[in-house]
Amino acid sequence: MMGRALSNVAMPVMKGCSGITILSGSEVRRGEESACIKCAKCVEACPMGLEPYLLAKISKRKGWEAAEQNDIVSCIECGCCQFTCPANIPLLDYVRLGKQSVMGIIRSRNAKK
Ligand code: SF4
Ligand code: SF4
Repeated sequence: MMGRALSNVAMPVMKGCSGITILSGSEVRRGEESACIKCAKCVEACPMGLEPYLLAKISKRKGWEAAEQNDIVSCIECGCCQFTCPANIPLLDYVRLGKQSVMGIIRSRNAKK
């Protein structure tokens, strides 16, 4: 389920598109976000062995140093964490934001070398 959500089926398929996942309306509907219940389902679901609940929390607080230390750049943006979260926390959205910020910091750090 990696990739971006499309709202229009008339979008063209381009080179680099490896697949299309079609979900029903009820599957894509976002539930109301509630507090983390510490069930660890997101940790269990993460194929990269990350702690999505923690990365999301850190990203929300803009703790980019901690995000880098917790290996946020290893996230493959599969969305498994968000899909399994019973609290409907938009984990992937937060992790994506954090990953982009950390990658930007790493790029500018490397450019100075
Ligand atoms: S989106 Fe990232 S953090 Fe979430 S399960 Fe996939 S690899 Fe792990
Ligand atoms: S799956 Fe959701 S509720 Fe459970 S620990 Fe992860 S963030 Fe918290």
